[in-house]
Amino acid sequence: MSKTGKSRAREKVDLLIFNTEELITLAGDNQKPRVGKQMRELGIIRNGGLAIKEGKIVAVGKTPDITKTYKAENMISANGKIVLPGFVDPHTHLVFAGSREDEFQMRVEGVYYMVILSSGGGILKTVRETRKASFEKLVDLSLKRLDVMLEHGTTTAEAKSGYGLTTRDELKILEVMKRLDQLHAVDIVPTFLGAHAIPPEFQNNPADYVKLVIEDMIPKTAEKGLAKYCDVFCERGVFNLEQTRRILVAGKNYGLKPKVHADEMSQLGSAELAAEIGAASAEHLLFSSDEGVKAMAKRGVIAVLLPVAAFSLMGGRYADARKMIDFGVPIALGTDFNPSCWVENQQLVIAFACHFMRLTPAEAITAVTINAAHAVDRANEIGSLEIGKKADVIVLDVPNHKFLGYRFGVNLVDKVVKNGRLVVDREKQSETVFLREPD
Ligand code: FE
Repeated sequence: MSKTGKSRAREKVDLLIFNTEELITLAGDNQKPRVGKQMRELGIIRNGGLAIKEGKIVAVGKTPDITKTYKAENMISANGKIVLPGFVDPHTHLVFAGSREDEFQMRVEGVYYMVILSSGGGILKTVRETRKASFEKLVDLSLKRLDVMLEHGTTTAEAKSGYGLTTRDELKILEVMKRLDQLHAVDIVPTFLGAHAIPPEFQNNPADYVKLVIEDMIPKTAEKGLAKYCDVFCERGVFNLEQTRRILVAGKNYGLKPKVHADEMSQLGSAELAAEIGAASAEHLLFSSDEGVKAMAKRGVIAVLLPVAAFSLMGGRYADARKMIDFGVPIALGTDFNPSCWVENQQLVIAFACHFMRLTPAEAITAVTINAAHAVDRANEIGSLEIGKKADVIVLDVPNHKFLGYRFGVNLVDKVVKNGRLVVDREKQSETVFLREPD
């Protein structure tokens, strides 16, 4: 109300979202990823609302305040539902050709993954198929996967190369990512992972492959501006600590921030290495030592944990997330979407993080939003619902946030708003698909 008692004209915006059971803002000091007890602070506004203009959030508050101040032609009432920042998936291997369902059966029957890999299967099978695939084919396959991610609430995804393993094919995959970022609503954060496996043609001289990665792939990737990060699969039989260090330092010298596939299947000390070189994140961490985890905490290295990937290994082992939280390591969660762990859905990741790693729903939500945004260095524009940030917003059809992890196996997404635009509306979809005239 103005001083004269007349109501002031309401400001016109593009979209209003209001009447939420819970508006989960994650608002706060977002200069650094959340650690310890901060991971439980979701900044919930009951009966909250958002005003959105030109793709950005312009107001956050209680519904009556928002609707009193703003008007819009497009309005979403989230009655009975909750509203969150779009999920950020900080670890995917999005671009590949082919599939590995036959190996899945072998793994079910007890064959260990590293045995499959050493006999030319696993990553190497996908490498053969991806090398053969054209640019257009890879774009096409990946767009469909991004559709599924978006339908499940992911609005930004990191994507790693690593199924090319020649300079030409690695650059092709990174170019595909650039094209996907232009074509699809989901934003892509590209990571160069030329050191994903030793390709067959270098099986007898892996040192030469490391040289190729350092002297040819990294400079060309950086020169073309195709990646933000450089990652290495540091594992027994793949790249050892010394090779990993050299590759990550070379990447760093070309402006590619380091990430590491660390301690996934054995303890090599890669968590310690991630801390030593100041990596942005260390990922997997099933076998990390206490010293490694403490070093990560000290250096502020984010732990990107991938519980569905651990599940798919069928080893019954998960990263010790509770210990990491106690030590003060910031945790983010990702799918590890890849041809041996075919999952696009961050809601399932939340469920597994709660069940197998004992994260609370609130901690898991922090790990797929603001902390995941930090893991891809975009926390200044996404990961929370705050004025000035991108309007990447999801509406979930549950009455409160504790349903995340608790109700699983179905898609809880009702709507997805990307850059202020409604891109998924499952409420409408289900009306058209399922409602029939009575007989
Ligand atoms: Fe991975």
